[in-house]
Amino acid sequence: MASSRADATRTAWLAVIDKFRHDPDRPATPQIWSPQLDAASRDRLREIQTEKLRAAVPFLYENSPFYRARFERLRMVPTDIGSLEDLVKWPVVDKNEMMADAAAHPPYGTYTAMTEEVWAQRGWMMFSSSGSTGTPRVFRYSHVDRENWAWANARALLAMGFAPGETVFMMTGYGPHVWAWGVQYALEKMALPTIPGGGMDAKARAGIILRFKPTILLCTPSYALHLGRVMQDLGHDPAATSVHTLFLAGEPALAIAATRQRIETLWNARIVEFYGCTEASPHVGGYSCSALKPGDMPATHLMEDIQIWELVDPERREPVRAGERGLTVCTNLNSESSPQLRFLVGDYTRFDTAPCACGRTHVRAVGSFAGRADDLINLRGIKMFPVQIEEAVRALDGTGDEFEIILSTDGAGLDVMTVRCEHGDHASAKDGLRARLEDEIRARCEIRVTAEILAPGTLPKTEFKAQRVKDHREKSSSG
Ligand SMILES: [Zn+2]
Repeated sequence: MASSRADATRTAWLAVIDKFRHDPDRPATPQIWSPQLDAASRDRLREIQTEKLRAAVPFLYENSPFYRARFERLRMVPTDIGSLEDLVKWPVVDKNEMMADAAAHPPYGTYTAMTEEVWAQRGWMMFSSSGSTGTPRVFRYSHVDRENWAWANARALLAMGFAPGETVFMMTGYGPHVWAWGVQYALEKMALPTIPGGGMDAKARAGIILRFKPTILLCTPSYALHLGRVMQDLGHDPAATSVHTLFLAGEPALAIAATRQRIETLWNARIVEFYGCTEASPHVGGYSCSALKPGDMPATHLMEDIQIWELVDPERREPVRAGERGLTVCTNLNSESSPQLRFLVGDYTRFDTAPCACGRTHVRAVGSFAGRADDLINLRGIKMFPVQIEEAVRALDGTGDEFEIILSTDGAGLDVMTVRCEHGDHASAKDGLRARLEDEIRARCEIRVTAEILAPGTLPKTEFKAQRVKDHREKSSSG
């Protein structure tokens, strides 16, 4: 491929991205960062998506060998995808396909548009998929990405209620995960002060909250529970602190009613969330907005001027009808490193395009995101998500905050599930907890499991994503 075409398509793509980066440095209004984007008509959003798509497709074709080979295999050329309606011609790209490419072309794979030249000229930072299974996929982002990222995330954070006067305590390890870094750069753009909280234990972090009175905490849902309990053990009430908002990530929070309520009550704070993935960065894909009140059905706006979102059915991977449940698919229009075409993010949800009370017009994922198709547990043909087990654990009085799910094969060759759950330190109802938990799971998931009740502090605490499912089955069952 001629490098002049690679450069020309990149330059053309950059020009279109710049054209639609309205209000790049500061919000146009105190409530909505960029009304001409965040509150654009649905027709206007489609126009913007179309213009960006027409620039992104040739850019990908000329700069990503993975995409070039896929076009050739499908006997297609970039002009075949000239409109939003044309997108269905392009079969969705899934993680397995990406992982195979990463394994065949280490260490970066060829599904990115980042080249050695661009990395040398304006390389910024490298991130990695959390990679619980298989080859991790690595993405190198540029300073163009960094600037677009800070801007897009600032728009989302403003929608979530981040405003002057707040102080944000970032309780993350600053590893190669996109979330915390993207928030950090957006907060800088918004001129909101932060306290970096990497490399500290829960006691030290509790001390910071009590002394310096941050108003917003960033952490995982399981860490929010853990830190709250540590504060209680130290004789402090998390609900009485300066904290009024918990910005949670890494695991679902809003979508799991029992978890959400447990955390909101513990901290007397509201929960806000982003939605996205490493592959479709650099920017948040979605965010919960300030129209969402405690107890409401959760909903997540998806940023439609920078990404195209679709829902597909899990078997045929074709678009579902309007209003039906399906798996998320993202076409990523604003990324120099990772401009993916119909990437299967793979979370179940339902879309609503009705206007939101917050004034934004971008589609909302109703019910938020409770389960990624990859996480589905198949036990002897009965299918369930780990979040269904989590609902059962959290619904009972007397359970602690940590739990894990062990899948194994018993002596008779039967696949079985054991749920190991900590009991709550101060709970009065320890007796009979094991039987109550087994009953609760049977009622919710229609499956018989063995419960084990553990002392608090037995299970490991993780700072990023808790690995709750351990599969030790002799042969993995499918179908
Ligand atoms: Zn809204």
